[in-house]
Parts: sequence; structure tokens; C-alpha cells
Amino acid sequence: MDSDLPAVYCSGMENARPLDCAEFRRALAEALDLLGVGLDAGPVENLERFALMVLDANALMNLTSVTDPRGVAVKHFADSLSLLRLAFPEEASVVDVGTGGGFPGVPLAIVRPDLEVVLLDATQKKTRFLNDACRELGLENCKAVTGRAETLAHELAFRESFDVAVWRGLGDLRVSAELCLGLVKVGGMGVAMKGPRLDEELPPARPVIGQMGARVERTVEVRLPDDLHHRLLVLRKHASTPHYLPRPWSKIRRTTKA
Ligand code: SAH
Repeated sequence: MDSDLPAVYCSGMENARPLDCAEFRRALAEALDLLGVGLDAGPVENLERFALMVLDANALMNLTSVTDPRGVAVKHFADSLSLLRLAFPEEASVVDVGTGGGFPGVPLAIVRPDLEVVLLDATQKKTRFLNDACRELGLENCKAVTGRAETLAHELAFRESFDVAVWRGLGDLRVSAELCLGLVKVGGMGVAMKGPRLDEELPPARPVIGQMGARVERTVEVRLPDDLHHRLLVLRKHASTPHYLPRPWSKIRRTTKA
């Protein structure tokens, strides 16, 4: 009967495009249940409002190819919230590298208001949308920054300055490890959110992870509805990244072609 439900507007979003909120909520609840995550009504409402904003902005810029309510709830929101399994320390600073439409950073900032979340993306159109969205949602612990990770990692304000770096959809692990780990403090962690390709990507990425001053700590299996299995690869930074890393993009991009 679900398909007979009318598309409705969610609270406070009268100008937004319709989203079947009932279906979104149901799928989100089902997925969070599987993850063992319980949320209050306030954060759930904010997650829903953000879903509407993303779908609305998606008409103007390419933020996501997943637009059905169940897909958005499971593949974007619940998947982002699988990070709660890692129990980041109270008030940790977190950078979401290549955040795109704000995943996983925005859902994480909504449910963990104690964290300081920086949403980093190379595309200004996306960071502008995200800063507007954070303002509308009243998210004071979340801001978007425009820039390339491998460039910012050489700037004093960003180099080895975050407790945690997370990334999803940033390509091959050999490349993403070099892009992201220079942003993590010694003692901090990097988290790559990966699908089944982790098995083939990890062995050739180990030398890069080591050169960046990190080591593999553990892998956490994530079960989501619809038979989706994801993995969180947790890397621990135990030493400073050498000053010549990360390399410029012109060099990094050749990594996977070698
Ligand atoms: N994390 C999101 C988006 C993945 S798409 C998700 O999982 O849904 C990858 C995003 O990374 C794009 O928005 C792109 O602009 C950004 N990106 C790619 N290379 C980058 C780099 N070197 N530094 C910062 N952002 C980058």
C-alpha cells in the first residue's frame, strides 16, 4: 500500500519539493534499528528537513543520483549514521573530505551536536548550498569549506588539525588515503567508508597508509536494509605525515594508473 501514500511536505518546508516523508521515516527507522541506533524526534525531523533540501537543490546541481525516499533514507542517511558505531570522542573535530551533498558530515553533525564538523569539498556550488542548509537547520557545529584536500593539507590551519577525517565516495583507497590523512592529528583517526571493494583496495593501499603516518586499526562491518553491507575502515595516525605528502593532484592522480 505504500505506493498509494500521497507525497507530503515535511514540517517547515512548504517550499520544498515533495518527499514521501512516511516512507523516508519508515526506512530510516528500519535501518537505524539494524544499526542499533536510537534517535529522538528532534534529530529525526532535522534529518528529514535536510533530505528535502538536498532533493530540492539536486534539481540545480548534481548532488545525488539516489532520489527515492527509501534509497535516500538508507543509502545516504543511515549509511552516514553508521559512523555512530565508532563512538567518536566528545567534542572531537571532524572533517568530511569530499562531502558532496553533505554525506556523511551533515547527518553526523545533526545527531552529535557536540562534534565540530567541517564539510570539505572542491566545488563551491556544493559548499555554498551546505552553508545555507546548515544555517537553515540551525546547525552551529557544522560549516562547509571550499578547497582541495591535498592543498589544504599543506596549510597551517588544516594540516594535522582534526581528530577525525571521514570520507565516502572519494575513489580508490590509495588515492583517498593520501588526500585525507595529512589532515589528521597524530593520535587521531581516518575513516574510509567502503563497500565490497575494500578487499581488493586495501592491500595495495597499505604502503600509502604507512607513508602518511597511519596504520590499519580495525574494520567495522555495517549491515543496512536491502542486503547492503558496508565497511568502515578505521586508520590510526601514529606519526606525523612527512612534509612532502600529500603530493600535488597532478601526481596523486597517476597513482592508480601505475
Ligand atoms: N561524500 C559524498 C560525495 C561523494 S562524490 C557522498 O558519499 O555522497 C565526491 C566529492 O568529492 C565531490 O563532491 C567532489 O567535488 C569532491 N572532491 C573530489 N576530490 C576532492 C579533493 N581532492 N578535495 C576536496 N573535495 C574533493
